[in-house]
Amino acid sequence: MSETIFTKIINREIPADIIYEDDLVLAFNDINPQAPTHFLVIPKKPIATINDIKSEDREVVGHLYLAAAKIAQQQGFAQQGYRAVMNCNEYGGQTVYHIHLHVLAGKPMGWPPYQDTLKV
Ligand code: AMP
Repeated sequence: MSETIFTKIINREIPADIIYEDDLVLAFNDINPQAPTHFLVIPKKPIATINDIKSEDREVVGHLYLAAAKIAQQQGFAQQGYRAVMNCNEYGGQTVYHIHLHVLAGKPMGWPPYQDTLKV
């Protein structure tokens, strides 16, 4: 896959507001927050979309959630609650093709998470 802006953040080639890092993942605040707290947890291994996750990636993908929950505890919103979501491809709203878990917190989240008039 071609390199994305997230690889540049991992390699410190461009700045980001990094809040957590370990061997497998990096977390940083979203540049365009959609909630009072909005950060992304990304694997250091570049994987383009959910569709590209392989069996051998199960540890790192599971680790995205473990890191999200750890940060939620650290930042004090774990019990109040939050949303953790990953978008896939065009209809999922994905714009950066390096998988990332959005973690949104600090306000009640609506459901469904979209507004449209499409009849299916
Ligand atoms: P998605 O649309 O699910 O692919 O989400 C991509 C997210 O990356 C969006 O919420 C963007 O605001 C965020 N984003 C893009 N560039 C940066 C950046 N340089 N630093 C932090 N967040 C970014």
